[in-house]
Amino acid sequence: MIPPSFIQDLLARTDIADLVGRYVTLKKAGINFKGLCPFHGEKSPSFIVSPSRQTYHCFGCGVHGNAVGFLMEYGGLGFVDAVKDLAQMQGMQVPDDNIRPEERERQKQIKEKQVSLTDVMAKAAQHWKQQLKKTPRAVNYLKGRGLTGEVAARFALGYAPDSWRGLASAFPKYDDPLLVESGLVIAHDPDPGETEGKRYDRFRDRIMFPIRNPQGEVIGFGGRVLDKGEPKYLNSPETPVFIKGRELYGLYEGRAALRNKGYAIVTEGYMDVVALAQWGFGNAVATLGTACTADHAQKLFRFTDQVVFSFDGDAAGRRAAGRALEAALPYATDTRRISFLFLPKEHDPDSYIREFGAEAFEQCVKQAVPLSRQVLEHAAADCDMDSAEGRARLLVQAIPLIAQFPEGALQGLVADDLAQMARTSPDEVRRRLAEHQQKARQQSAGRDRRAPGGGASGAQHPRSSDASSDWDGNFGDIPAFEPDGGGSEDWSQAGGGGAAYGEYEPSAPSSQGWQGQGGYKQGGGQRRDGKPWKPWKGGSGSRWQSRGSPVEQRPLPQAATPLDRIVWVLVCHSEFWEQLPSATHDLLCDQPAPYGEFFRWLDRMLLAQGLLPAEALLQLMRGDAQDPEHPEETGHFQPLAKRIAQFVDVPDNKDTVEQLMNLIRPIELVALREELDLLTQSGELSEAAEARKMELVRLTLAMKLEISQSRPISG
Ligand SMILES: [Zn+2]
Repeated sequence: MIPPSFIQDLLARTDIADLVGRYVTLKKAGINFKGLCPFHGEKSPSFIVSPSRQTYHCFGCGVHGNAVGFLMEYGGLGFVDAVKDLAQMQGMQVPDDNIRPEERERQKQIKEKQVSLTDVMAKAAQHWKQQLKKTPRAVNYLKGRGLTGEVAARFALGYAPDSWRGLASAFPKYDDPLLVESGLVIAHDPDPGETEGKRYDRFRDRIMFPIRNPQGEVIGFGGRVLDKGEPKYLNSPETPVFIKGRELYGLYEGRAALRNKGYAIVTEGYMDVVALAQWGFGNAVATLGTACTADHAQKLFRFTDQVVFSFDGDAAGRRAAGRALEAALPYATDTRRISFLFLPKEHDPDSYIREFGAEAFEQCVKQAVPLSRQVLEHAAADCDMDSAEGRARLLVQAIPLIAQFPEGALQGLVADDLAQMARTSPDEVRRRLAEHQQKARQQSAGRDRRAPGGGASGAQHPRSSDASSDWDGNFGDIPAFEPDGGGSEDWSQAGGGGAAYGEYEPSAPSSQGWQGQGGYKQGGGQRRDGKPWKPWKGGSGSRWQSRGSPVEQRPLPQAATPLDRIVWVLVCHSEFWEQLPSATHDLLCDQPAPYGEFFRWLDRMLLAQGLLPAEALLQLMRGDAQDPEHPEETGHFQPLAKRIAQFVDVPDNKDTVEQLMNLIRPIELVALREELDLLTQSGELSEAAEARKMELVRLTLAMKLEISQSRPISG
């Protein structure tokens, strides 16, 4: 169960244009972005992404939703998986609501600790940035390396003065344990007879490179000496917020360039990243003094489908390339492109681009060796291809590597290339490959419940179900994914699992769910435009998962609203629910919490238990009675139950579906208008979108008419 506050937080941190832009080429369209819809074939754009609403909407095929919804639709993921994917992109850890209270408390403390660590480091980064401005020697050093102030500012470069307690001027409480925990200050144990050990700054007389996570929080530092001195590069120690094997320098700074260039360059040092950015390659990132790990590879492929690993031309570079190759192999799906760039000996990207310029570097990128070739060259590195012995050795070394490719065309093609290289038949290679995979499966079954996070370069395969739990160290103590469609409980929980309404924060404008396609048609199970609704993905109750939308929450308003009234009518007449068209179900379930989640809950309740009398429903809402299947939800809608009882008189037996629809129509009108607004804001679009615009105008007018006709004439 994912707490709703987490999803709110996650969505707040996500920029939907940023997310969708990774998969769809977007162009600015007024205050929105437009692109070709990834969900239906089209030649001119009907697909709009709205940064202000944080939603996407296709006026051709009608898909819509928020960031979670996009990942669900695009990746065919269930709600929980989509939330986990998105959280990982944002570097957030999905909390598990099923855990014991002590455990939750512990996690809360960890989180608080992390926040205080990143706060301390942000303050230090700010301090060092100021120091850089005051230190001509440091500024001249950066200028000497061809860096402008603009790039220095983009990477928030700083300077740690040559002083043992330089940070004391930024942190009056120099003995704050956080300074030691964050790795900024080194504290020695007290000498005998003394009460306090020596304390001093870790970084002195160095150019400081703040290392930021994908959210932009400072999680560590790299420091480089200006002239001579050892070590040349000094990094922060690992802390709860800084795990070197997972973080990539430059990912935060390079997000936009990654999207524009369409690929990432992975280098070995932060100076390379900054230098490449200076020369127009803002899409470079660097590992932090470690070889490229599977975690790195996984993280990168969240941001881009093309990765160019760049290595120095020396022996160390070759070794590093081998490690990167093994880390990246399991992610080499048919749609991704991974290649390896080897610079001439004695060069790193920084020195190379400064000597030969951007165009020459661009050429290197173009000539990078594709993974399919590099994997065989890597395996053949110490094989004498002119002898049968050497070729046999190649087979033995290459098969375990090829086995790590995800199943797909690429794996088969590389296997064929291997056959040619080893001068054997493709069948022979495939037989050996199958044999190897069989063995690997047996072995991995044998060590079934191994600790997570281990064996990044083993023969496991992230896609093969038996090894996935081993592979993905990132998910730590989170239980395995639930199969798609089985997550309806999660969804409704996600909408407000146990949170008191008092916690709701005032939400952004547009709290009315415009997402609803709107359109009431007597007895119709179809959209107003006549197109059938998309088939539901999962079983009962999971239909609204396909959007991932109704997580926005708002405080309950003071006066009774039409939504309160609708809740009341439906509580009194649960039989009306089934008489509403499915488009109206969608509209209601898309409403902000607590309403949207209430309607989803009601839908599930009615499906599970059949029609319920008002008193029974109210008891369930209040928590006087327990829903045996979801005891944890008991009393969840208590504030809403109290509220509607307070505003609305006794059940009115004269209520009709038609009266209910009269209450719903204004909400539909809002949804229609918002959809129309979005269209008019977005400039020129496809014919389908233009047709939809005309239709929306017609529908809006028709809806206004319906509303005016149904309103009782008052004096
Ligand atoms: Zn579409």
